[in-house]
Amino acid sequence: MGDKKSAYERFLDGFLGGVGDWDNHLAEAIHEDENPYLKNQMLKILEEQEEFGDAINFGLGREIWYSNDFFINSLILDFITAAENDNNAEDDLVNELKLIWVGMLGKLGVDVEAINMDDGFEGYLITMHFGMELDIQFISELVAYHVYGRKIKDLRERAQLLPEMAKLLWFLVDKEALIKEATELAQSEADQQVDRNSPRVHIASHLFEAGMKFVLGHEIGHHFLKHTETNGRNIVSKFIPTDVTFDQMHLDEFAADNFGFDLLIKGKKERNNNELLAPLMVILMLALYDKTPEEPSQYHPSLRNRYLNLLSKVSDHNEEIAANLQQIFDEVATWINRTFYDGYWKTEWWK
Ligand SMILES: [Zn+2]
Repeated sequence: MGDKKSAYERFLDGFLGGVGDWDNHLAEAIHEDENPYLKNQMLKILEEQEEFGDAINFGLGREIWYSNDFFINSLILDFITAAENDNNAEDDLVNELKLIWVGMLGKLGVDVEAINMDDGFEGYLITMHFGMELDIQFISELVAYHVYGRKIKDLRERAQLLPEMAKLLWFLVDKEALIKEATELAQSEADQQVDRNSPRVHIASHLFEAGMKFVLGHEIGHHFLKHTETNGRNIVSKFIPTDVTFDQMHLDEFAADNFGFDLLIKGKKERNNNELLAPLMVILMLALYDKTPEEPSQYHPSLRNRYLNLLSKVSDHNEEIAANLQQIFDEVATWINRTFYDGYWKTEWWK
């Protein structure tokens, strides 16, 4: 055991462009002469992380154990704390969670993957593209605008939110536009002096945190349910496994979704509705890259069925909340579909 390399070392060795400290890497990559503004923002983020870390990590600041990404590290710490506080949790869960390591890669494209196990290394490796985190952020903001807007009675006031929603949708579906706008985007966001106490920003950050947790929980599920003993798994299928039947692949996806859902709400007495909305929101985001979400692929069940499965998980928990979230999902999906003249999808697959 002692001779084995860690998942962290495996990531640094095996993944091109893998770095030990992602946020620090980003901050260093920005040149002060070229973009003093963004540089300053990044340094500010590092400082905030240091303070946040001091407050929650016994004064240890930005120290990270479970990821090269500070935010993901704090999400894994949350999972561990929740498992420690959950009297019903299996004893092993805490120890197993401590073997997770998540490597953020500086790539666009929606991808997160539970890397297949390798006897030469200890621990469970998960990789995530930066593009995935970015898109979860955009979809969280988009859905937050809608959830917030529903409570506004004045229709004209509500309509004022639509251009912002449309811009976020555009960034989700057109990555070239996003890259072109990236610098301007960072600038304008900072100029707007985002009010962190606004209810809309609260909803967005709740959705983002829970969405990230669900996605990580899904991949942790693939590891803990031993799907990765034979093959790596990713959230959108890109490769053909050699020794797993298609039916089994489909069952494994549902099992991983269920695991991610359960991990998200584990150890929490009070569950916020946005927390339960987040897994459904992730499916909606994945559907933006799938023209036929009602159809299964050879390797994955249809997004429609994954959505319905998660909705029934919410319903097991609370039927009234499930009906409410289904309504919200319908409204956002319908809005997306109608924003494109000939419909974004061919069918209203979520109905
Ligand atoms: Zn999966």
